[in-house]
Amino acid sequence: MSQDSLTADDIINGRNPHAFAVHLRCANCLKDTMRLVDASTEAEPPANIEDFLECGLLRRMVVVCSVCECPSAQLTGVDHAHGSWDADSDDWGA
Ligand SMILES: [Zn+2]
Repeated sequence: MSQDSLTADDIINGRNPHAFAVHLRCANCLKDTMRLVDASTEAEPPANIEDFLECGLLRRMVVVCSVCECPSAQLTGVDHAHGSWDADSDDWGA
């Protein structure tokens, strides 16, 4: 039931409806990053962005900047990974 080992391929191949792409900006160096989050392990898995924002998973997420190791980041956006991914492209738009 690990939710941090999920890869983009897992989400695409599994067509996971509870997968979300979380966009973050480091509070220190302002680097933008995207994290894929599998919310299907939640007691009531959120199926849309609104529910995802309210389910508490975001607050439990541990985010450490890959550049400066700052443990604090600003949420800049959330995409529904299942719905927003373009099957004709390898590009996640990140
Ligand atoms: Zn940083």
